[in-house]
This record gives sequence, C-alpha cells and structure tokens, in this order.
Amino acid sequence: MSEETLFDLSRPSRAGVSLPEPDVPVRPLEELLPGWALRKTPADLPELSEVDVVRHFTRLSTLNYHVDKGIYPLGSCTMKYNPKINEAASRNPRFAAIHPHAPDSVVQGALRLLYELAGYLAEISGMARVTLQPAAGAHGELAGMLIVRACHQARGEPRKRVIIPDSAHGTNPASVAIAGYEPVVLASGKDGLLDLEALETQVDEQTAAMMATNPNTLGLFERNIGRAAEILHSRGALLYMDGANLNALLGRARPGDLGVDVLHFNLHKTFSTPHGGGGPGAGPVGVKKELEPFLPVPVLEKKAGSYGWSYDRPLSIGRLHGQMGNFGVLVRAYVYIRMHGAEGLKKVTEMAVLNANYIRKRLEGTYQLPYPGDCLHECVFSGNLQKARGVRTLDIAKRLLDYGFHAPTIYFPLIVQEALMVEPTETESMASLDAFCEAMLAIDREARENPELAAGAPHTTPVGRLNEGKAARELNVCCPWPGLGRADETG
Ligand SMILES: *Cc1c(COP(=O)(O)O)cnc(C)c1O
Repeated sequence: MSEETLFDLSRPSRAGVSLPEPDVPVRPLEELLPGWALRKTPADLPELSEVDVVRHFTRLSTLNYHVDKGIYPLGSCTMKYNPKINEAASRNPRFAAIHPHAPDSVVQGALRLLYELAGYLAEISGMARVTLQPAAGAHGELAGMLIVRACHQARGEPRKRVIIPDSAHGTNPASVAIAGYEPVVLASGKDGLLDLEALETQVDEQTAAMMATNPNTLGLFERNIGRAAEILHSRGALLYMDGANLNALLGRARPGDLGVDVLHFNLHKTFSTPHGGGGPGAGPVGVKKELEPFLPVPVLEKKAGSYGWSYDRPLSIGRLHGQMGNFGVLVRAYVYIRMHGAEGLKKVTEMAVLNANYIRKRLEGTYQLPYPGDCLHECVFSGNLQKARGVRTLDIAKRLLDYGFHAPTIYFPLIVQEALMVEPTETESMASLDAFCEAMLAIDREARENPELAAGAPHTTPVGRLNEGKAARELNVCCPWPGLGRADETG
C-alpha cells in the first residue's frame, strides 16, 4: 500500500510526450532570453512515462475514502452522492470558460441561470431575496451577520450581542465575533430544543439577533422557532437561521414562514457539489424584504427582459466576493434543483429523514441515544456504554475504517458525551444503511469480547493513527522553488 513520489519513480530520459521535429529554425535559448532568466542548472523535474503518471495518481486516488466509494455518514456535513450530470453541466466550456468580468451583454445565459437560481432558493426558503456571493457556509454566516449589523445601524444603533444556542454549529460563534458582536450562549432545554423561558430572560435591547441552527446539531427540528422569532421581534432583535442542512426541510417547511429574517444555504451540501478538503462551496444568503437594501453589491437585476448588475445600493454591506460567486457550484445547484423539481426536492428530504431514523432505530439500545425520539436528517449517539468497556468513541471511528466505512462526526455536538453524529443522507440504499449498521453492531460486540481490537484500529488502512493536530499546530509551508526561499525563512 505504499506509494513512492513521482521524484522517486523518475528514471533518466523517460518521457511522457514525444514532440515532432521542429519545422522552424532552432535558436539557442541564450539568444532568446536575458541572462538572468536562464537557469544555471537544469530544473529537477521527474522523468516519467504517461502510464507511470496515470497509475501513480490512480493508485493514490484509491487509498483515500470518498463518497463515490461508499457511504460517508459524516454528521452535519451532508456528504451525499453528487449526480454526475451536475459535473457535465458545470464543466461545459460555455459556462466554465466565462470570464468573471465579461460584459453583461455577452453572458446573458449565465446571468439568467444565477437570477433563476436565486429565485428558486428564495421560493424554497420563503425569503424575499437571495444573494449568491458568499463562497461557503461560514462566509454566508458572516454576510448575514453584517446585514444584521447594517440593519440595526440604519435603525440608529448597532446593538452588542448575539444569542447562540449551545446546539448550534461551531462556525456560528466565530462568524458572530468576526462581525463585531459578542456571542452569548443559550443553554438548550432537557429535550435538546430551544428553551423559550431562558430566551425570554436573555433578550434585551442590546440583543442584535439570535443565530440558531435548524435542524440543530442534535438532528432535531426546533419546534419552538416560531415562538422564539416572536420573542426576538418584540424586542427589536432579528432571527438568523443556519440553514446549512436544508435537506431536512426541503418542501416541508420554509424558514421564512417560521419567522426567520436571515438565513444561509450550503449549496455544496444540500444542493450537491463535491466538497470537503476546503472547497469549493457556496453559501448564499436569503433575507426578508426589510433587509434587502443591505445585501452585498452588485445585485443582479432583470430589466426589460435582460439581466445586469446594479451597484445602486447606498445601504449595502459592500462586496464579499466576485459577483459571479463560485459559479461552478451555482451551476451544479441549478441543475440539481431543475432535475428534481418541487416534488423531487420534497422526496429528498423525506428520504434523508427516513434514512436517519432507520439507523437510529437499528442502533438504539446498542448505542446510547441521549435525546430519544424522532430525528430529522441525522441522529446523535453517545459511545458512553462502549467507553465503559475500554473502547472510546475515537476507537469506534477508527475501527469503522477497517470495516470499509468513513467514520461519522465524533465529539460533536459538545453537549453529548462521546458523541457519534451520523448523517446517512438520502442517497444511500437500505443495503448500504444495513451494512453500516452491521459494522457498528460488530464493533459493539468487539468492545465486549476483545476491546484491544478497536483500541489499536485501524489495522488495514494505508496509514494508522495520525497525529491529527500536528499539521495544524506546526504548519510548515515551504516553497519548493530554489532561490525563492522558504516561507519559514522569509516569514
Ligand atoms: C457545514 C456547516 C456550516 C459551515 O459551512 P462551510 O461551508 O463549511 O463554511 C455551518 N453550519 C452548519 C449547520 C453546517 O453543517
């Protein structure tokens, strides 16, 4: 399972391409380039044949787990299968080769796609208007919070605090802080839901908004969100909803109808773009009518049948990204929505919820379920019972790799001890859900009979347990080109 680097595989004078003899006079480089631009020694490049390179990368691609290989039940991340037709459309050169600053008149088709996509998202969510600019979920959160701030500013005072339930996603407090607000925690009730009495006592005239994840990170629908919106609105505060996991609500509930003022979507999750490893993504933001003037510029308008960008927005929070957003991701989302239609999207949600509840039913009893009852698109178990036998949640996750599955999200949300957060997504068949559950049940049996097995896992993967914090803590980004210096020398 080891794989050498291309430099190790290199053999002198092996070549990947063969070029024809030149049909123009050959002149030495020295005549064509100034002296300073000429290398003193030849570049140290690997020499390989085409098949060497293809096999190298094909072998590497199969060492990693990915969603085209099997179920990827990472909670909150919605690692669903992404239909290949999305790829075909977004890679069409008529989309892919567009210059982001092409004049409006020559890219009317692309602008129409953006305009219609924003319209679909507004309809799906019950919001008045949607911006497609933000490049990720967290970027959308920041945009949304800046809109909240601009709105309060326009009313006369920006206010100071944003309330965040302890069941919210981890990016929420960070976005709030970057927008210049102080995040304050709202403890969830015993049922894992918004505690309205606690909210009543916390909201005051310095509360700018509440930022709630719905469904929350326990996979539960926030049943009290409508009432929470009323409490906030009665004191001049706004309600932000983190709508990253909209595959739990499509066609069944519209955040706008629940009193939500601002929300972001994660197109790379709900509307299917391959993601992970840092991108690309898209985090559009939807707002109610009152917040429209604060949307980022430029805003896409349709006038007399043609589409164009408008900068005439004096109250706008400004620009966050290129006006086309992450266009390839937006094309995929458009195709995905058009392929499904309204009925299909509703079915997506029904299957996502059914699949999560199927796993919940099959594993409850074996794995602790701290918040029992129906879940939406994901369910959160605790590994407490297994930990008592010497197998921690981390060990369960590592052992799953030996069984050929990607692990669920672990140790999140923080309000569940030894958390195992499972989101199967709607794209998994019953057979694949069963296979995953069988592996989880087998690991529980091992925890009783042979706990060392899981404690030392994984045993069959190309690498064993990595020090997962080291790369982040000891960042060493060096420049491989001689003469340009290393990042750690030049700072
Ligand atoms: C994934 C996720 C985010 C963050 O989205 P990114 O695109 O990774 O920035 C925010 N909130 C929730 C609930 C999420 O699941």
